Amino acid sequence: MDSVSFPYDAPVSQTLFDRASLVTPGGVNSPVRAFRAVGGTPRFMVSGTGPYLTDADGREYVDLVCSWGPMILGHAHPEVIAAVQAAVARGTSFGTPGEGEVALAEEIVARVAPVEQVRLVSSGTEATMSAIRLARGFTGRAKVVKFGGCYHGHVDALLAAAGSGVATFALPDTPGAQAGDTIVLPYNDLESVRAAFAAHPGEIACVITEASPGNMGVVPPLPGFNQGLKDLSAENGALYISDEVMTGFRTSKAGWYGVDGVVPDLMTFGKVMGGGFPAAAFGGRADVMGHLAPAGPVYQAGTLSGNPVATAAGLAQLRLLDDAAYEKVDTASRRIQALVTEALTKEGVAHRLQTASNMFSVFFTAHEVRDYDDARKQEAFRFNAFFHSMLSQGVYLPPSAFESWFVSAAHDDAAIERIAAALPAAARAAAEAAA
Ligand code: PLP
Repeated sequence: MDSVSFPYDAPVSQTLFDRASLVTPGGVNSPVRAFRAVGGTPRFMVSGTGPYLTDADGREYVDLVCSWGPMILGHAHPEVIAAVQAAVARGTSFGTPGEGEVALAEEIVARVAPVEQVRLVSSGTEATMSAIRLARGFTGRAKVVKFGGCYHGHVDALLAAAGSGVATFALPDTPGAQAGDTIVLPYNDLESVRAAFAAHPGEIACVITEASPGNMGVVPPLPGFNQGLKDLSAENGALYISDEVMTGFRTSKAGWYGVDGVVPDLMTFGKVMGGGFPAAAFGGRADVMGHLAPAGPVYQAGTLSGNPVATAAGLAQLRLLDDAAYEKVDTASRRIQALVTEALTKEGVAHRLQTASNMFSVFFTAHEVRDYDDARKQEAFRFNAFFHSMLSQGVYLPPSAFESWFVSAAHDDAAIERIAAALPAAARAAAEAAA
């Protein structure tokens, strides 16, 4: 990181960060936001419109993070904002059932065929935590299989060899997290899953995987991997849980299920379905979901679950996400991917751009990345130089080499031209970076 220069400072963000650091651990409420992997001052954002964000110093950026996925229509979409304003005017939380949550559940069930019933929660972490509890309650078993580099939120049982911020900061295990019943296996390796079932007969409650991982960078499943997980789980009396918090309603109308068609027992959702508000969900087979309280004995609850403002935002966003909207996101993503490849190739930078529908990321390595070990072999110092060059030219990338980039339907010609203009210098910075 020493070789990376920070081409300009951000005095107002720095002042805010100094204040934040006094009252909040590390100055942030979610670790990757702190820029520790890439260095420099995290930008405090004050507003967003379409594909742009504006920081506290008044600088505008083309946003390729999109709030880590949710803002698939861009920031402050007028129809989403109108739905939120109308909901807020009616009151912000009732602690009773309401029609908005029924409509959002119906929309999810209509889009994703394996989901017969769905329960709304407030974060992706809650969704995976609850899905695992349900799998344990349903099967009467304790063990959970997960894959290295997959991130499922900060659930104790899933904070082992996790991706996202855990990968960014190279924290293999989290002190305090109880993950004793977790079996961590290499991603894209069905043989290891077969071996785990053989070693722990009748003990594994579920296999959980990101439908297509984006939290170690984008590492899609090899052909047959997800189907193999489903089949091995079924053969061994375990549930197959597909975590679509990131891919859900992003990689297609029906998320990654809409791409590979593998039918999970349970699925988890978040991000896009909340329209920028805290709304998430888990759902799946009705006979499994029927074990949840009050229908069944597995307890799960939430004061703000199905919050009327969050459900209004999510529903408005999902209703706008028709075929034409996905076509826009996919096209913008393909154009940006091509520009990145061209710029890095021109500068002779070894790289690998990996995609999962409109999600993509760049690994600074010459080799295909199939699992977390491969991902960690990349030259992350080149990403850091690339990141800061883009930032200084007004393009906001995820501040980590281990994250997906996110595009929205609002990334129009003007936004893409700004990215194109920034890429040559960033590619040069990556080429010249030293470890
Ligand atoms: N699962 C996946 C695949 C995710 O990408 C994330 C967050 O990035 C989560 C779960 C956790 O979601 P949240 O941050 O809303 O708790």
